[in-house]
Amino acid sequence: MRPTIIAANWKSNTSKAEGKHLIKQILQGSWPSSCHVIVAPPFVYLPIIQEAIQDSAIMLSAQDCSEYDNGAYTGQVSAKMLSDSKVEYVILGHSERRALFNESDETLKAKIGLARAQGLKVIFCFGEQLEERKMGSHFVIVSEQLALLAELDDLDAEDFVLAYEPVWAIGTGETASPEQAEEMHAHIREELSSIVSPKFSEQAFILYGGSVKPNNAQSLFDMPNIDGALVGGASLQADDFLKIINAG
Ligand code: PEP
Repeated sequence: MRPTIIAANWKSNTSKAEGKHLIKQILQGSWPSSCHVIVAPPFVYLPIIQEAIQDSAIMLSAQDCSEYDNGAYTGQVSAKMLSDSKVEYVILGHSERRALFNESDETLKAKIGLARAQGLKVIFCFGEQLEERKMGSHFVIVSEQLALLAELDDLDAEDFVLAYEPVWAIGTGETASPEQAEEMHAHIREELSSIVSPKFSEQAFILYGGSVKPNNAQSLFDMPNIDGALVGGASLQADDFLKIINAG
């Protein structure tokens, strides 16, 4: 059986003090060793949070990285810098990056390539828009988003985590029902088998993201193809996040 992964995406939230306090509260809780916990604070707080989680089971992720290796790209944080700073994971392809910062598949491919070359583990996000679901094209859209995996060599499930995040469920309070999510996760697993390999498909961690809360986490995690969650809003409340972790 695959362990569960619960990843917290703090987005552009928290102050330094709030982030440290949040970690302190989470570390006061407990969870089964079969549940792997990752936190993704804003770039500037990565070193502070890294110190706060030292010697704990929590792993550190960045929320993005540059599509450039290095050079004159003011404001960009490269995969090399993250790796140099001992950050383990990077979230790539989040719908907010795709929509608000016009991140194209080309950009995303460049980021994935650089992140992997630097030994970062990737949390690859994708998912359909509300209109696409309403039109019934959600399976096709997700298959199209997954197509870029065909160009990646030597994919390993431990190093490349997938996060299905229907855009209409992110930050909206609206969650895909466990059945809707499971149906899509089963589709993703089938696609992975042909795009990557049957072995990768079987071992892949496919997280669900989109308004995961303490009251819906268990029913989502009970689904055979859902291996955990990428959590936004609820990861900013230690009590809620701990409940979600313990549902995993
Ligand atoms: C996310 O940011 O990836 C996310 C799923 O957010 P929320 O849990 O707030 O919907």
